[in-house]
Amino acid sequence: MKKSGVIILVILFVMGLCGSLFAADALETIKKKGVMVAGVKDSTPGFGFIDEKTREIVGYDVDFVKAIAKKLGVKLELKPVTSASRMPQLMEGNIDIAAATMTKTAERAKQIDFSNTYFFTGQKFLVKKATVKSIADLDGKRIGTAKGSTSEQNAKKALPKATILSFDDYPQAFLALQQGKVFAVTTDESILANILGKAPNKEQFEIPDIQISDEPYGLGIRKGEKNFLDFVNKTLVEMEKSGEAKKIFDKWFGPGSTTPLKRGSFKITDGK
Ligand code: GLU
Repeated sequence: MKKSGVIILVILFVMGLCGSLFAADALETIKKKGVMVAGVKDSTPGFGFIDEKTREIVGYDVDFVKAIAKKLGVKLELKPVTSASRMPQLMEGNIDIAAATMTKTAERAKQIDFSNTYFFTGQKFLVKKATVKSIADLDGKRIGTAKGSTSEQNAKKALPKATILSFDDYPQAFLALQQGKVFAVTTDESILANILGKAPNKEQFEIPDIQISDEPYGLGIRKGEKNFLDFVNKTLVEMEKSGEAKKIFDKWFGPGSTTPLKRGSFKITDGK
């Protein structure tokens, strides 16, 4: 072979090596780094929010990624994300996993992969007491929600005459409700109940029994990372079997918590 041929072969070989390094398996990379970076909310009461005493981000979502990092034997780094930023942050590689009240949808699943469902809720409305009896009372009104959420899309479909105002997060939408700038806030019942639970003037508001969608939450993972996804799913199923998943639920939403929610017959199930 000519010298130039050999050089080309060497270049191709090195390029191939680089390519396989970039395409490295996420599970292996996290183990090697010794840290798993999780994108979590920091202003969503109950799921990812700042503890007033410790100033750390805590919540249901945080406890799940803590358990996964522990099982992996790596440190956990938490990065705050919003409803709008969580998918880009994941796809750009700034976070390894998103644990951010994120509903599994077919549309989102075109861009990222989802774990087994680890929480289940539905979309409702938070309103001033005695202002809403049926969904007709909401149409044509100004409704607050968060940018980049399923809540925004579902509300547009369910209330075609309403004006949907999208904020960066739900506490901002709630502030707008308190100031009379919106007539209702809409998102998952689990989030609304936690915001209401913390409100000093909670007796002025209510969540009527009007549900416009089901919202199963999944942990988001970069597309095609099969080993990492399998590891996460296996861990979730083990957490269900050992009772750890229910313990985390009870810690945040159980009978003694500030916001009791129903876990009902929900169970983390492999493949769902
Ligand atoms: N679970 C819904 C979603 O994924 C609403 C809550 C949120 O914005 O995180 O969009």
